[in-house]
Amino acid sequence: MKVIAIDGPAGSGKSTVARRLAARLGLEYLDTGAMYRAITFAALRRGIDPADLEPVEHLARTVDLEVSTTQVRVDGVDATIEIRGPEVSRAVSLVAANPGVRTEMVRRQREWATERGGGVLEGRDIGSVVFPDAALKVYLTARPEVRAERRAAEVSDLDYETVAADMARRDALDQGRDTAPLRLADGAFELDTSDMSVDEIVADLARRIDDV
Ligand code: C5P
Repeated sequence: MKVIAIDGPAGSGKSTVARRLAARLGLEYLDTGAMYRAITFAALRRGIDPADLEPVEHLARTVDLEVSTTQVRVDGVDATIEIRGPEVSRAVSLVAANPGVRTEMVRRQREWATERGGGVLEGRDIGSVVFPDAALKVYLTARPEVRAERRAAEVSDLDYETVAADMARRDALDQGRDTAPLRLADGAFELDTSDMSVDEIVADLARRIDDV
């Protein structure tokens, strides 16, 4: 099974790079952040407090989740747009800190890769928890102002200051939580993408995969 694990904070370039790298390698791609966002969306939609551990864990175990390259469906409802919205972005770190939710998401992610004989997975804990034996483990970073600019360009309805503040808050929560915090995994290599184009990053990673 060939697994490529790509982790890093918001705006480090994970999604774009993982998508492009998967296409180049002929592998499928999984955005695991979209899974945590989808659980958050489902909780908000049902009026469940995202901080309420047991109900959210139960939701994570029972919800029908379909995450593809083009669409995210939650219990049959198209949530592709809403999971990127400000309400979900604000609450997602709470849901992601729930140990029961993480256990279930990790189980689903391993199953996804096993069914496909591997793939490119991107998130926060892929190299540290989900696939510590991945063929390649990458930790993407970028200077905070570069990451905030990238995110602000994606969400056109929010100004730079708001995006930068939300992102800093989310990074602090992701790095500070007890279960599977965002960190550089053992054996992962770190790549600062601040001054690199997407083509350069993808070429760099593809070269490293040829070497393994
Ligand atoms: O990647 P994205 O920014 O969409 O992820 C949204 C949130 O999901 C992150 O801020 C983090 O709290 C959580 N997440 C996680 N573990 C992953 C992927 C995402 O905790 N593997």
